[in-house]
Amino acid sequence: MNLFRPISKLYYRALGVVLIFSIGCQQRQTSPERVSDEDFKQLPKIDVHAHYKYPRAYLPDFFKRWNMKAMLVDVAIEQGDSIVKSFDSYLAHYNQLPELFYLCTTFTAHGIENADYADTIIAQLEQDIAHGARMVKVWKNFGMVTKDSKGNFIQINDPRLNPIWDFLAKNKITVLAHIADPEQAWRPLEDPNNPHYNYYKNNPQYHAYNFPEMPSYETILAARDQWIKNNPELKIIAAHILSMSNNINAVSERLDAYPNLSVELGARFGDLAMQDSEKVKQFFYQYQDRILFGTDYGTSQAEEEKSAEALVEEAESLEERYRLLFDYLVKKDSMELRKQQTKGLGLSKEVLEKVFSTNYLTFLADSN
Ligand SMILES: [Zn+2]
Repeated sequence: MNLFRPISKLYYRALGVVLIFSIGCQQRQTSPERVSDEDFKQLPKIDVHAHYKYPRAYLPDFFKRWNMKAMLVDVAIEQGDSIVKSFDSYLAHYNQLPELFYLCTTFTAHGIENADYADTIIAQLEQDIAHGARMVKVWKNFGMVTKDSKGNFIQINDPRLNPIWDFLAKNKITVLAHIADPEQAWRPLEDPNNPHYNYYKNNPQYHAYNFPEMPSYETILAARDQWIKNNPELKIIAAHILSMSNNINAVSERLDAYPNLSVELGARFGDLAMQDSEKVKQFFYQYQDRILFGTDYGTSQAEEEKSAEALVEEAESLEERYRLLFDYLVKKDSMELRKQQTKGLGLSKEVLEKVFSTNYLTFLADSN
């Protein structure tokens, strides 16, 4: 159970140079030897997209056993005229276990028509950063939920947001961007085996198919791409594989076009599993420096509200769910993932190291 010891920025810069040097010098291997279970367990891991809003007695041991840390990501949800944020809960959890967690704040377009909107948001972000936030999340309420007083949906490339992007770029704060939803949101719910079937069944308010007034998938993604292009100095991690997880060719095109872009895997393993494992594996090798491990797992209820049995069950299920994702990335066995029959990717230790920690640590080392 080794820790990620605090290492100086200088070390990471040196590491970056070594990585660039070694990538330049060798062909990327695609048929490496297998990584043993023990080696994988020891490998440092960061789940860059997690929602452990409420503490659990079992969590510290769980994370230490897997040599893992997690980014606690706040989400701002609009309810009528108000915004429900959970930053204080995440902050309290982070302060309780700073060796296990990183912190990510958020903001919305609520109030964008006010003259002091950008200044107010920047002041809030400055405060959250002073409290330890290392990243800022923007959520699908840009594009799919928030409207101005004329009823227009606010897209992520709205010029009124520019001062905020400039502030984040200047301070080298990474943005975790969950913009749009999987294409499935705009299609009828027909196939119970689709990896997103249950989500839209249980969250009909985001099933865009039922809301013809909602901008199209293509409109939101075009605004998102324009935003990435307009802000080349802004470091962007696109959550959920760019909301294009069912089409890794489209993801590759964006990664090729925008050097400031990386992608995170959370809650989209089912889409990967629907595609040819060999092709997905090639994708990981080709973009090994720009793919980050994330899950979207979290806790949505206080510990005292759950029975002892429910907590044991929750801990077991969490272990199982992480293990399944690990197996998909590490092993080469046939498996079922989100109702899809697939084959594990069997990534090399070098690629696993990058996806699980080094890629994110490089972002951190390069922040102020
Ligand atoms: Zn999330």
